[in-house]
Amino acid sequence: MGKVDFILEELVTANRILANEGIVDSFGHVSARHPEQSDNYLLSRARAPERIESDDIVAYRLDGSAVDDRGRAPYLERFIHGAIYEARPDVHAVVHNHSPSVIPFGVTGKKLKPLLHMCASCGHEVPVWDSQDKFGDTTLLVSDMAMGRDLARYLGSRPTTLMRGHGATVVGRSVRHAVFVSVYLEVSAKLQMQAMALGEIKFLTPGEVDQITARVNDYTLNRAWENWARRAGRQMQEDSGKGAGA
Ligand code: MN
Repeated sequence: MGKVDFILEELVTANRILANEGIVDSFGHVSARHPEQSDNYLLSRARAPERIESDDIVAYRLDGSAVDDRGRAPYLERFIHGAIYEARPDVHAVVHNHSPSVIPFGVTGKKLKPLLHMCASCGHEVPVWDSQDKFGDTTLLVSDMAMGRDLARYLGSRPTTLMRGHGATVVGRSVRHAVFVSVYLEVSAKLQMQAMALGEIKFLTPGEVDQITARVNDYTLNRAWENWARRAGRQMQEDSGKGAGA
């Protein structure tokens, strides 16, 4: 199997996992940087993640234009992906979702910060991008490159950002990594709301976050990926240096 076929299968599995774990519903999407053409990315046509097959996946240029869409309609919010790949050479996968537990942190000013070791990869503190700041009243959808670039600039070098009244965007060094962080961002938000009801929270310290994040290696990612893939009815592909856990 070539690198491109490998990534197409990874993306199908990623979509099924994110749907099965409740991170995306009928909306939300995951992309990968093209493994042979770094100024392209691979993303499904507009379709619910749970239904996506490898034939649904289309190559896009960073500006969001399709290389060859064969008549398949794109996601309106594909600009999130292109703008982040443009700004972040280290990023090889992007997840955009509306995962339910993160939403309250986007609208209340309560900071989402990791309190569980498994959630350290979400970053020291998850920032909130507010489309209102620069674009005023909109549908909140990232519907062009100007909005995508503003979001990417706000994300900076971080792994995650919330989007006020909308959802979250998560980046990773591989598809497996971005899925891992997305699942634990939802876990983190849910736990923080539960902990807030009990009282004062002792969050992970920045030093703890850094040490734990440095330990999230291929073993960690693959162990979670195999379990989530099987649970979603997919097999884990053997990663023979094709970028799954790079
Ligand atoms: Mn969205």
